[in-house]
Amino acid sequence: MRGMTHAHSVRASTARETRARRETRARRGCETRARRRMGARGDDARTRAYGASEPDGTWREKNLNAFGNLINVARGGREVLQAGAPPLRDVAKSVAPERVETGEIQELISEMVRVCKARGVGLAAPQLGTRLRVIVLEDTVEGMSDVSAKELERQKRKPFAVKVVINPELEPIGDASAAFFEGCLSVAGYRAVVRRHLKVRCRGLGGDGAPVDFVAEGWQARILQHEVDHLNGVLYTDRMESRTFRRVDMLEEALPGDHPEFGRAVVLGESNEPVVRGRNASAAEDAEARVKSRRRNRRR
Ligand code: ZN
Repeated sequence: MRGMTHAHSVRASTARETRARRETRARRGCETRARRRMGARGDDARTRAYGASEPDGTWREKNLNAFGNLINVARGGREVLQAGAPPLRDVAKSVAPERVETGEIQELISEMVRVCKARGVGLAAPQLGTRLRVIVLEDTVEGMSDVSAKELERQKRKPFAVKVVINPELEPIGDASAAFFEGCLSVAGYRAVVRRHLKVRCRGLGGDGAPVDFVAEGWQARILQHEVDHLNGVLYTDRMESRTFRRVDMLEEALPGDHPEFGRAVVLGESNEPVVRGRNASAAEDAEARVKSRRRNRRR
């Protein structure tokens, strides 16, 4: 560069370096602050879980997502899909364990917990249109306040704190089953008698990715079976005693009696009758067994 003295060019380059260093420092500071903000909000690619799970699936939400909850409340959350919506009929995908603590999954859990608390005793991700194997459940004293103490005892229904299970797998324990009316947020306004296993073991991951493994009985076992069905594209109407199907305001009306074509009348309560399975249940079990043995082989 002609016309510039040596002293001049040194001073100029020093000034340039200083400016560059200052800019880099400023940029780094910004990034750190931004990262901290994103971590707290949970929309970072990888963030911490919004709570801690216990071995029985109980989910203790931390206050740190209070901000996220406010946003969720402000945007009203998603509608619960109704029967006919395709996500309710697809088999949902497993969540990779390393994905559990991402903002995507943590926000999903937080939204599901809120919808469940506001509207029912259980919710599966496909009901919000997300085809992932995530369920939440909770039963509260207030939620069961319209059911008599006698009925609650018959249903083995007891309050429990909110649980989150990712990739849940159920295994029936014993042969006992129970037939009671149940409903679904995705079949709004109706109820039908559904026979479910009385007792199940549930294994999977908690909301923070830690393993959960617990045994549920009575109403909690029913909720688990209902929600896991959702993950497999199954609605209770696929398993119901179809002649008991009714509008919710007809719940107290008498059950239908014996029928020449449809057989014996349904009796509510516990028994050893087998649960109603899908038309292709044995084929589905074969497929499941094949997948499991393949997984076992891969691990070896
Ligand atoms: Zn449902």
